[in-house]
Amino acid sequence: MTAPLDISELHWMLDIVQSIDVGVVVLDRDYRIQAWNSFMENHSGRSASQVTRQSLFELFPEIDRPWFAHKVETAVMLGTRAFTIWEQRPYLMRFKSYHPITGLADVMYQNVTILPLRTVSNSSDHVCLIIYDVTNAAVNRLQLETANTQLRTLAIHDGLTGLLNRHHWETCLEHEFARHTRYSSPASLVLFDIDHFKRLNDSYGHRAGDEVIRQVAGVTRQMARETDLAGRYGGEEFVVLLPDTDLVGAGQFAERLRSSIAQLQIDHEGQPLSCTVSVGIACINSETTSYHMLIEEADQALYQSKSAGRNRITLHEAGTLVGH
Ligand code: GH3
Ligand code: MG
Ligand code: MG
Repeated sequence: MTAPLDISELHWMLDIVQSIDVGVVVLDRDYRIQAWNSFMENHSGRSASQVTRQSLFELFPEIDRPWFAHKVETAVMLGTRAFTIWEQRPYLMRFKSYHPITGLADVMYQNVTILPLRTVSNSSDHVCLIIYDVTNAAVNRLQLETANTQLRTLAIHDGLTGLLNRHHWETCLEHEFARHTRYSSPASLVLFDIDHFKRLNDSYGHRAGDEVIRQVAGVTRQMARETDLAGRYGGEEFVVLLPDTDLVGAGQFAERLRSSIAQLQIDHEGQPLSCTVSVGIACINSETTSYHMLIEEADQALYQSKSAGRNRITLHEAGTLVGH
């Protein structure tokens, strides 16, 4: 048992409660405010005299009443503390943030402790809320998460085109290859390369070349489905893996892609540019023993398209190359 406070100790306590940098609120069992310290006055813009005996929920309609009341009632019933954290709900009461430097937070992120207050008879007829301003920690965490997401995106995408980079695309291919061989479902690989790209670079400059690569990638992204995996395989070489697609389907896809790219009219600093692509296609079948083999077959088909005159499609079909 602690000894009862004498009157001077009570004054100290009140001074402390007024000057600490956390919010202290006391509620009665009808959620009417009985105490409101200066932190709460400063951040809510409402003085203690304005809010005393007012309903918390009427003053702060942003509070989700069923959720919050349930938390409080449980804490009172069990006679234990309860907590709300910003990760679950950013705040209890919507206060403006005083951390404008980052521009990330315009509200105060809050953690709240709900503390049932016992009387001498051991019943809880009041509840204390302790409100912590955790905006700094929350903003730091959110910034870190944003940076991590950006890093992850950078690590798997190609900077020029936004398509998957070669390393990540090959990892995806390896997964897909395992899946398709396990379930004996088809998957096709479309490999294509811009024709006479060196000429384009030499005539119009490297930046013009980059623009062509970007636009070809843009068309590829537009034509591919959500489940297709489009990547930049090399300088001006691209790959699209089409899951659950046989050679016929892949041929149709490649033809739409080839003709759309051929029709592209690229404007580079007032200079009209165009290009074509040569395509090679291979499909996983019972004889495909590794994903490397699939790439090799598509590459052979692509080489065939090049030697047959470019701007065309070749299918690697049961060991033979079929031009289209
Ligand atoms: P082919 O029709 O046989 O494919 O001829 P090509 O000229 O396209 O083929 P080649 O492989 O000889 O040339 C590819 C050129 O692409 C060589 C390289 O300078 C250029 N290149 C590679 N990556 C980039 C890039 O990111 N930007 C630009 N502008 N050029 C690139
Ligand atoms: Mg080329
Ligand atoms: Mg090339």
